[in-house]
Order: sequence, then structure tokens, then C-alpha cells
Amino acid sequence: MHKDLEEILVTDIVLQARIAQLSARISKDYKGRCVTLVGVLKGCVLFLSDLIKRMDIDTNVDFMMVTSYSGAQSTGVVRTILDLKQNIEGRDVIIVEDIVDSGLTMKYLLKNLSTRQPRSLEICTLLDKPSCRKTKIPIKYAGFVIPNKFVVGYGLDYNELYRNLPYIGVLKKTVIEGKI
Ligand code: 5GP
Repeated sequence: MHKDLEEILVTDIVLQARIAQLSARISKDYKGRCVTLVGVLKGCVLFLSDLIKRMDIDTNVDFMMVTSYSGAQSTGVVRTILDLKQNIEGRDVIIVEDIVDSGLTMKYLLKNLSTRQPRSLEICTLLDKPSCRKTKIPIKYAGFVIPNKFVVGYGLDYNELYRNLPYIGVLKKTVIEGKI
């Protein structure tokens, strides 16, 4: 375990097994169709790549980058930094996110993408942290429901560190508070 973590919440093996289940479910639900996966950068990167390589339907991948976070704090104001390259009108779209916390980022994405008139629009998030939810979010595909702790690893960062860890871990409070 990385020295800056207080515990591992989801191991590598458990992550991979759950992602295989999500891929199978999505492949079944969209059988015979092409699904457009909109990855939300940068946290989605490891999850999206493991998710799509197990799918046995046609996929189309695009990315958006939005921001509302600075360190471990949400600023609450969501902005688009990078937009889709493709037109999603008439497409079956799934937003692929690392974590839904307050839900404000996802609320913004849903509103933004639905104006482009996709055929369908669903959410797939690796982690769901419902205890801090500020707005109702209809999550169709969720990997793990987690407690209200700041997590890193498997794509999730703290000040751009820890994305490479193959598991999800809880960051020590001393690291967040800058006491080490
Ligand atoms: P929300 O708008 O739902 O509060 O937050 C969504 C975004 O905040 C996520 O895409 C992620 O970048 C960041 N975030 C929320 N909770 C955590 C957390 O526990 N760890 C990390 N690393 N990022 C988080």
C-alpha cells in the first residue's frame, strides 16, 4: 500500500471483477447498437479503458474535461475545459465518470449533453458517494457505493498524484492537510 494512504477501499482484483460485470451488463443492454462512451477526463482514464476492452458491442469513444475541484475541495462552479469532438445527436450515449460525489458535475454534464439531442443518455460511474449528494442523479451503472472519504487511485488524483495506483485507497488526512 502507498505510504500516503490510510486504507485500501477496493482492491485491484475486486475492481476488475466488478468492471467485467458492468461491461457485460452494458453489452447486453446495448446489444446490436453502437454506444458512444463519453469519458470525463482525467479520472475516467483507467476505468474507461478497462471497461471498453471487455465490451463485445461497437463502441465510440470521446472525452470531455470539466472542472470544479481545487485540491480536495469542490468550488461548486463547473466549467468545460475540453469539449467533445463528435456530434452526439441521435446516438446512444453513456457518460463514464470516476466518481459522483455532490452530483453537481454530473448535473452539469447531463444538462449540457442532453441539449445535443442524443437518442439516449445514461451514466456509468465507478464510484458513487451518495452521502454528499446535493442533487438527485439517475445513475444507471455504478461500480461501488463508498462512504464519505476522500479516495485516490485507479485514475483518481489528489493534486495530480496517485492516479497510477491499481486500487482505490483512502488518503491520510495529514496528507490533505499538508502536515507531512
Ligand atoms: P461532484 O461534482 O459530484 O461533487 O464531484 C465530481 C468530481 O469531483 C469527480 O469527477 C472527481 O474528479 C472529484 N471528486 C469527488 N470526490 C472525490 C474523491 O473522493 N476523490 C477524488 N480524487 N476526487 C473526487
